[in-house]
Amino acid sequence: SEMSKKQLIAGNWKMNASLAGSEALVRGVLEGLAAAPAVCDVAMCVPAPYLAAVQGWLSGQTAVQAGAQDVSQHASGAYTGEVSADMLRDFGVRYAIVGHSERRQYHGETDEVVAAKAQRALAAGITPIVCVGETLAEREAGHTEEVVRRQLAAVVHVNGHCITEIVVAYEPVWAIGTGKTASPEQAQQVHAVLRAQLAAASVHADRIPLLYGGSMNASNAASLLAQPDIDGGLIGGASLKVPDFLAIVAAAR
Ligand code: PGA
Repeated sequence: SEMSKKQLIAGNWKMNASLAGSEALVRGVLEGLAAAPAVCDVAMCVPAPYLAAVQGWLSGQTAVQAGAQDVSQHASGAYTGEVSADMLRDFGVRYAIVGHSERRQYHGETDEVVAAKAQRALAAGITPIVCVGETLAEREAGHTEEVVRRQLAAVVHVNGHCITEIVVAYEPVWAIGTGKTASPEQAQQVHAVLRAQLAAASVHADRIPLLYGGSMNASNAASLLAQPDIDGGLIGGASLKVPDFLAIVAAAR
């Protein structure tokens, strides 16, 4: 039930950090969590070239799980530059972000592509973190609910069944990297819509963590994470600073 579910705090480094910087980030977070163990689940979604190194730094501990920021919609073959779900699995990846708004905006990812990516991840035993969220224009036109419901429906309905082994991240595009966080009430309102949609599709909807993302930081995390339908956060900018990321983890249940 709602009460027993751990929250999930997942960092999304995007195309940031160097190899040396990655090591400092991972080791800094592990040290912090050794001193003050998290009650929530913690993940770091890192650039693909660093996955092997990150796997090494994370080995022998369970406090932090590795994640990828994308995965190919294809299984294998002539897709130059793509990284498959099986390749990610080889490096111990537990989560893969799919359908981030930056991928939808700059790489033309459609709902169908995002759904295919989620399926590839699941088939490899990787939990997809499926991102949904409206643009500012869509919000101002009153289309927020319609947009996020469409984006979620495309992913969760497979052959008439609802898939529940996923994580959903509500990330309003206007809040990402802008310092303009959705208010806890604005975020909760959309999360309640997503929860109801999932509940209508599956009796196991309660299991699906619903993360909020978009300028979540050390000062606003607690109020967002206190909302009844917010089960964690997807953290961009603030995941690049050890003290900020640890403060968000400490604010989670
Ligand atoms: P932000 O990014 O925390 O820097 O706004 C969140 C995200 O894009 O996942």
